[in-house]
Amino acid sequence: MLPFAVKKFLFYAYKKGMMKMFGCIFCQIAAHRKPAKILYEDEDCLVFQDINPKAPIHLLVIPRKHITSLNDNLENDKELLGHMMTVVGRAAREQGIDQSGYRIVINTNAEAGQTVFHLHIHILGGRMLRWPPG
Ligand code: 5GP
Ligand code: ZN
Repeated sequence: MLPFAVKKFLFYAYKKGMMKMFGCIFCQIAAHRKPAKILYEDEDCLVFQDINPKAPIHLLVIPRKHITSLNDNLENDKELLGHMMTVVGRAAREQGIDQSGYRIVINTNAEAGQTVFHLHIHILGGRMLRWPPG
C-alpha cells in the first residue's frame, strides 16, 4: 500500500502531464537530464544535433514545452511555433547551409514515421536532397 503522500504526488504529477514528461526523451534533453549536442537554446526552444543524422547537417528544433505533435491543439502556441521558425533560419545561417539550401520536416504519426512524440522540426542540409522524399 502506497503512503498517502506518494499517492497524492503521483496523482498531481499525472494531472500535470508530468508522467508523460518523465518518459519523454526530448523533455529530458530540454531539462539537461539527458546529454545532447545542443547548439542553441532559449526560454522557449532548443536546437541540437540528431543522434542518427540523415544528412551532413541534421538538427532538431524542439519546444521546451511538451507538445506531442502538430495534431495537438496549438491555438495558444502560435507565437511559439513562429519563434521556432525564426530559430530554424538562425540555425541554418549559423551552419552555413542557408544559401546552398536545406529542408525542414515535421513527421506526424505513424505513416510519416514519427518515432519521438515531442514536436520537433528536422533541419536537413549539407547534401543534395531528393524530391519527393521517400
Ligand atoms: P522522428 O522519427 O520522430 O521524426 O524523429 C526523431 C528523431 O530523433 C530521429 O531522427 C532520431 O534519430 C532522433 N533521436 C531519437 N532519440 C534521440 C536522442 O536521444 N538524442 C538525439 N539527439 N536525437 C534523438
Ligand atoms: Zn516531451
